[in-house]
Amino acid sequence: MKERVLAGIRPTGKLHWGNYFGALQNWVQLQNQYECFFFIADWHSLTSEYDNPATIKKWTMEVLKDILAAGVDPKKCTLFIQSQVPQHAELHLLLSMYAPIGWLERVPTYKEMKQELADKDLSNYGFLGYPVLQSADILLYRASKVPVGEDQVSHLELTRELIRRFHHLTGREVFVEPQPLLTKTPRVPGMDRRKMSKSFNNAIWLDDPPEEINAKALQTLTDPARTHRSIPGNPDVCTVYDYHQLVSDEKTLKWSDDGCRTAGIGCVECKQAMAKNAVAYFKEFRERKAKLKNDAQLFKTIAEGANRAQRTAAETLGKVKEALGLNYAN
Ligand code: SF4
Repeated sequence: MKERVLAGIRPTGKLHWGNYFGALQNWVQLQNQYECFFFIADWHSLTSEYDNPATIKKWTMEVLKDILAAGVDPKKCTLFIQSQVPQHAELHLLLSMYAPIGWLERVPTYKEMKQELADKDLSNYGFLGYPVLQSADILLYRASKVPVGEDQVSHLELTRELIRRFHHLTGREVFVEPQPLLTKTPRVPGMDRRKMSKSFNNAIWLDDPPEEINAKALQTLTDPARTHRSIPGNPDVCTVYDYHQLVSDEKTLKWSDDGCRTAGIGCVECKQAMAKNAVAYFKEFRERKAKLKNDAQLFKTIAEGANRAQRTAAETLGKVKEALGLNYAN
């Protein structure tokens, strides 16, 4: 029996390099080693996009295509859209009874996202309950592993505390405590060196055409101290070099590092070399995505994923209802 892994992604826009190198690339590996449940968290998007719900379906379909084009294979994993599996909402409701409000207000992502989405009014009940929905997502599939970066381990803590509280108060052991599956994620800053994000307008999208990649490479922040071609630079503080590390081979990395430190190369040629490698790196992705359409085949993929997810989710929910004495059918 393979261990079970659960991972999801919010459809708030097309996916960018940060999503790919921080998550998707890892999903493609994980699907070969674990029994994976991957989902697009459209209800999670609604917690912040409630005033513009029309965009959610559009982005969900776009993200689905990005996931498939990145190499996630629905034959190797269960790939689904969260709202197609209503058990997420039911377990969220039941778990919310066991979630003290103080716990939710202290969740680090709650504060982080409030800051990141400062232009939104996030003082809604759904947004505060976001971590409970996240817990329901994980627990429905009895996932023993959740891939997280080292800085995100605390995000899982609330889920584990919620499980202990539920088990303690109901006297029934229903859930599996998930453990973090630590993943080494490379640093992927935005073009302006802040976190890469749609809200900051600093992202490079996975399906950006070559001319867009070239243009964005030229806009990307370099070592701010290297104000002239004749001044040696420091690649360690340069966003272009961070990108080189994602898409370039060892030889180019050495060329860039040496050339920068000795002022042997200029930033424009360094950026152009990075862009050329990025165009090649995402060539297959662009070709695969261009072939994916919102057609019968894509909707069949969604439906099959939802059916598979529902079978496991319904089993878990049955156990939860039994623990709560809410199983009126027998
Ligand atoms: S030469 Fe390259 S690594 Fe150095 S500062 Fe310019 S863009 Fe960055």
